Amino acid sequence: MNITASQLNRAVRCLASITLPQEDSPNARSQQGSVLARYFQRCSEVGQEAALAEVPEEYASVAAAIDLDELPIGLAAEVAFAYNCRTGQAVELGRGIERRYVECLHEIVPGAALEEWAFVTVDVLGVSDDSVYVADHKSFTDEEPARDHLQIGMGAMCAAKVYGKKKATVAILRPHGNKRADEAQLEDFDLESVEWTVGGLWLQLVAHREGKLELEPKPGKHCKYCKAARACPVGGGAAMVLAKPVAFDWRAPVTRDNAAAWHKATQALEELLTQRRREVAELAKADAIDLGDGWILGEREKDGNEVLDPAISYEVVKESLGEEVADAACPRDFSKAALERALTAHKVKGKTKVKDQIVAKIRTAGGSKRGTRRVVEEYLKE
Ligand code: SF4
Repeated sequence: MNITASQLNRAVRCLASITLPQEDSPNARSQQGSVLARYFQRCSEVGQEAALAEVPEEYASVAAAIDLDELPIGLAAEVAFAYNCRTGQAVELGRGIERRYVECLHEIVPGAALEEWAFVTVDVLGVSDDSVYVADHKSFTDEEPARDHLQIGMGAMCAAKVYGKKKATVAILRPHGNKRADEAQLEDFDLESVEWTVGGLWLQLVAHREGKLELEPKPGKHCKYCKAARACPVGGGAAMVLAKPVAFDWRAPVTRDNAAAWHKATQALEELLTQRRREVAELAKADAIDLGDGWILGEREKDGNEVLDPAISYEVVKESLGEEVADAACPRDFSKAALERALTAHKVKGKTKVKDQIVAKIRTAGGSKRGTRRVVEEYLKE
């Protein structure tokens, strides 16, 4: 029953969401967040094109839509912290540890009393002379604003403690335009307020554990994506679609009278379908599923995205279009998208044709490689 920061915005509205049995499978929001965080980390390690080739198919279009030029660079990614709710101590657990909080905590604080600690991973961390910069990538639009976002606030509070700073800039980075629009400055009293909130929740959890406090589920909009929804007697979420009979005829067309009910039902069903699709894919990945009529659902190897060698690409573009276009197309991390942007910026006529010709020349010069990726899909039995 440890607090993790991703639960905080819901926990302040319904603390039972932490104490009720949790669904193991990650929900759409946390799954997409993890995939994007990993994608950004890999972009800085292997370049955008190669990183995109590693992104699972269902998230590829979201990742591809992100304009990396707009994102802050030179910052640490996927930094995990632990916060002791009793003593106020914060420690950095590591980078890219993929939620191995407990293992890393025991390495850093041997004999740590686990029930006293809360955990957080920040997608992006920067440290300046007097403040920390903490940002999370969020692609869903119903998030709290950065100033009030407790998950990001807890990350900022921990980072400020670990790096001895009194101020923080917190931000929500969005994949589609306006990425840095939601940014706020937190002063020392704002960071203290986050600490009190986390500490207050922890004290309630302790009282609950000791049998001194009942925690009633408090349903609301925050029920969406709640991992305790299946076990919750009153809440909403995908599990409730199965648990509660619908109050209208599924076959009836949408009217003014039933539009609200349809809206809620379709939202919950979308969530349920995403969850179930993922569970089916996991099973199919482990062992192919016979769909009948000769069809199989299973994991197969497919061609990955083509990766163009930056040095060879530069030479080919320079030879064909001159140094200016080559410099614009191949700064450090050449990609077909960068070439397209350079062709647009330099008003090259017949852009698509020129791009295809250039890429063909790069291939001929040995500057292209294409890996493979494994996907779960339907295919006919051989
Ligand atoms: S489903 Fe809603 S009411 Fe139930 S525990 Fe989750 S947030 Fe609370």
